[in-house]
Amino acid sequence: MTTIASNLQGVRQRIAKACAEAGRDVNEVTLLAVSKTFGPDAVRVAHGAGQAAFGENYLQEAVEKIALLADLPLQWHCIGPIQSNKTRLVAAHFAWAHTVDRLKVAERLSEQRPADQPPLQVCIQVNIDGGASKSGVAPEDVAALAHAVAGLPRLALRGLMTIPEPAADFEAQLAVHRRARQLYDSLRASGLALDTLSMGMTADLEAAIHAGSTLVRVGTAIFGGRA
Ligand SMILES: *Cc1c(COP(=O)(O)O)cnc(C)c1O
Repeated sequence: MTTIASNLQGVRQRIAKACAEAGRDVNEVTLLAVSKTFGPDAVRVAHGAGQAAFGENYLQEAVEKIALLADLPLQWHCIGPIQSNKTRLVAAHFAWAHTVDRLKVAERLSEQRPADQPPLQVCIQVNIDGGASKSGVAPEDVAALAHAVAGLPRLALRGLMTIPEPAADFEAQLAVHRRARQLYDSLRASGLALDTLSMGMTADLEAAIHAGSTLVRVGTAIFGGRA
């Protein structure tokens, strides 16, 4: 087995174990393979090992990679910051965008989504731990943005996404992820039909799954360390 294939198997086992410990059905958690900085060959190997959904951060790199892999039935997720002058690329090339944090960006994505494609699936990025240099909407502003985004015709609002600062241990990771879960539950209670909580990476996917993550974004544990 190639390294990527055995790494993928290891990550799937981590997800299954975390789901079992949290009393959750493993089918509730999607694995997004984060392929940023790795070439199309690595993505091909991962696809050959059964992986279909891939996340990319850097638009130029992503657009080139997506074109080189157009022969495969892959699902591409934008997980990097979206500048408002780059929305057209995101709207044209991705199935999902996890990092919507302003209404202006959401409106442009909706206007620019090509008519021959299904609605762009989106998550609102929340700055859940108040990291100063981080993108993401403040928790207290999420509800207003979510209800506005939910009304845009060419977007399908699916849920929330977070990138917490690295935390010291499992309990600290869990505490932050639980705040995101509460926010997600409160939006659902307010009438939004959300089904996606995008949180958890290589270092904290277990805590994220315990808190209710439905999509973990994993790069390092699949493809190895990045330069
Ligand atoms: C790079 C990245 C990941 C993957 O992180 P790893 O620690 O390598 O698993 C997940 N989400 C986002 C938004 C990222 O930028």
